[in-house]
Amino acid sequence: MVRSRITAAIALGANVGEPERSFKRALSLLERDGDVQILRRSHWHGTDAVGGPAEQPDYTNGAVLVETTLTPGALLERLHGIEAHLGRDRANEERRGPRVLDLDLLYALDEEGAFLAEHGDELHLPHPRMEERPFVLAPLKEIAPAQRLPRSGRTVAEQLDFLEESGGLARLESPAEARAWCEAARAAGATIGFVPTMGALHQGHLELVRRAAMENDLACVSVFVNPLQFNDPADLEKYPRDLEGDARLLAGVGCAMVFTGTLEGFFPGELVDGALPAAAYVPPGPSAAGLEGEFRPGHLDGVATIVDRLFDVVEPTRAYFGAKDFQQCLVVQHVADRRGGAPEIVRCPTVRESTGIAMSSRNALLDDGAREAARALHRGLSAARDAWVAGERDASSLSQRLREGASQPSVDLEYAEVRDPQRWTPGQPTGALERAVGLVAANVGGVRLIDNMEFDGDAR
Ligand code: AMP
Repeated sequence: MVRSRITAAIALGANVGEPERSFKRALSLLERDGDVQILRRSHWHGTDAVGGPAEQPDYTNGAVLVETTLTPGALLERLHGIEAHLGRDRANEERRGPRVLDLDLLYALDEEGAFLAEHGDELHLPHPRMEERPFVLAPLKEIAPAQRLPRSGRTVAEQLDFLEESGGLARLESPAEARAWCEAARAAGATIGFVPTMGALHQGHLELVRRAAMENDLACVSVFVNPLQFNDPADLEKYPRDLEGDARLLAGVGCAMVFTGTLEGFFPGELVDGALPAAAYVPPGPSAAGLEGEFRPGHLDGVATIVDRLFDVVEPTRAYFGAKDFQQCLVVQHVADRRGGAPEIVRCPTVRESTGIAMSSRNALLDDGAREAARALHRGLSAARDAWVAGERDASSLSQRLREGASQPSVDLEYAEVRDPQRWTPGQPTGALERAVGLVAANVGGVRLIDNMEFDGDAR
């Protein structure tokens, strides 16, 4: 029987021991049984380590093109066998940590040059992350510059230019383009981590994006100042916007795609006189009652509605939200539950400035005096938490502590309350609390700020 032959591209990487020596030995082991022939081999490239633990040695990377009668699965098994033979212990290594030898199957082509697709537990073909990685594409360009890539449709050489020009960040202007991009990514077997934002990005947002990039094949971000969630037109008007700055920051944290849009773009043909009819709103669920629901009527309805539509567009594997917007996280979970439990909602800790102030796009609107006064919110939350740690379990006493600690002449408190984070009640819970979160909203120098702290958590 004549076995069909495939052509496959293999990426090599190492940053421990003597990479060039390991590569030479790996390649001779690969050809030893006579069923794999190396057609072309790149030079070895020195590259900085990407992600993973700090201060690991630089990498050496390369690529080879092979022809083989093995199936892709058997070829991968051969590669793993060679890695183990040369000292790699896959079962006990750190994610993105140092490597003695890394042999990745990038893609396999049939005899007509068509991509073979495999989306198993071990084997993903074509490799879902290869198009985002300059350290993979640079050596690949030497051996297959005109090879068209499955997701972007660009050649290897074109994609490398694109990464160099843009930092790998695709910038899309409409939900329709974003939908097509995400569909292609999913069809290529990639998992998508999604971070919805209103832009004017800061470290709090970037933490979410870093985590999305770490836990998924691709991270994607939306920047949309959603008019549906602003109950105050003046607040919408003065909300900070800086799309160019945002794109620069996103390119630096491994984001693959950012998209924007207009209300019409998100709800094509659904607006009446420029507004979304009440019937088209998505219900925010029981946790929208009280606090934000009371002081910003309609806000959480607008959040639920846009988040549901964003999930339609992106269909992410996971979506990342900040605990800073605590009630929003509960509402978003409700939206995901209504959609059958997808995407998985990941709640990330609040990132704070060294003064304790929770990072927020709105902080850019604070003058020096207001910025100083805003520290009172974190002080109040910390005071209530101290009382909790000392044994106080009564919601009324805890919120009293919170209010006292947060009180300041230039801090105009809207609410300072305590809730059970797992059993939301619109009003103050009664009886001894088993868990507690303090939540506060205030007007400081004309800027509305919110913050919260889970008392049993690690105090962020
Ligand atoms: P926004 O742009 O304000 O709508 O925020 C977008 C996402 O970033 C939301 O999930 C927020 O909760 C999250 N976020 C905003 N500020 C912070 C922060 N200081 N720490 C962590 N996440 C944050």
